[in-house]
Amino acid sequence: MSRPSGDAAPGARLIDGRGLADRIVAEVRAGVEDGRRRTGSVPGLAVVLVGGNPASHIYVEAKLRKAREAGIDTFEHRFDDIDEAGLLRLIERLNRDRRVSGILVQLPLPPHVDRRRVLSAVSPDKDADGFHPENQGRLFTDAPGVVPCTPRGCLDLIRREVPSLEGLDAAVVGASSIVGRPMAALLLNQGCTVSVGHKASRDLPALTRRADVLVVAAGQPGLVRRDWVKPGAVVVDVGISRVTDPVLGSRIVGDVAFDEVREVAGAITPVPGGVGPMTVAMLMANTLDLFLGAAGERGAAALLCQG
Ligand code: NAD
Repeated sequence: MSRPSGDAAPGARLIDGRGLADRIVAEVRAGVEDGRRRTGSVPGLAVVLVGGNPASHIYVEAKLRKAREAGIDTFEHRFDDIDEAGLLRLIERLNRDRRVSGILVQLPLPPHVDRRRVLSAVSPDKDADGFHPENQGRLFTDAPGVVPCTPRGCLDLIRREVPSLEGLDAAVVGASSIVGRPMAALLLNQGCTVSVGHKASRDLPALTRRADVLVVAAGQPGLVRRDWVKPGAVVVDVGISRVTDPVLGSRIVGDVAFDEVREVAGAITPVPGGVGPMTVAMLMANTLDLFLGAAGERGAAALLCQG
């Protein structure tokens, strides 16, 4: 695609995150098979889930299913509850387990568990989600490391639309440590001029209207309206919220007012079917990369996003 321009777009291209995610998982599967032939072993993904959050259970099921589809061994550790010391002991054990290439601790954790302490306990070399401070530091210093799955998936989607991002204006709405901040760092590493908006920002539309590339991860349904978007921009909607509508019933929506924004954007991700499947696919890619790294073969996809 050509660089996003100021020309009005007749209707945005729909970015098919599900289709791309399927292709990535198929590539991971081929990589796993190849690794098995050469090393006699396959990657292993350990998933740790604490508590009964229904959304977390759905996400974990989806991740485990995709891992099996990709030929990755899975190790499930589910607890109704566990104290922090118990969780840290489990992570220590998984860090030492040679069958485990990647560890994922599903968030959110219960309030009595210190999330930072737990995420920091995961070995940076098994950090499938890229949340360890060492990997976050690597991302922020533009050094190779594990990139968090959602931002990595967003960047992949964006680069299919705009192969070179150098010099473009980008805006990220949302500044969480798992989506917004790493997304901003990735775009900066690609040569974008990046603005980051959050709930205390005074004039969000002024930031977003300049953006050739707009990523929204605020968790606020329908936050971004048509007149917030530069004509022709690539719009990536990370938001996932369940809303109940008297006519349409219960459904999942994003942070972008899709029907109106698609009239002005150049390309847009749907919700569902956009970023969500890419997040899961990138978890598989990160797990394979960690396996290859442990097998002394690092150099596959993990470094791709560092451009
Ligand atoms: P979070 O609550 O940790 O952070 C939200 C961020 O958005 C904060 O920085 C906050 O300041 C900002 N924000 C909140 N309200 C705002 C407003 N009105 N205007 C501007 N900024 C505002 O959330 P998160 O974990 O980063 O997730 C964000 C959204 O993305 C959620 O809907 C979540 O479910 C979704 N999500 C989707 C995927 C996926 O795979 N598609 C992955 C992770 C998160």
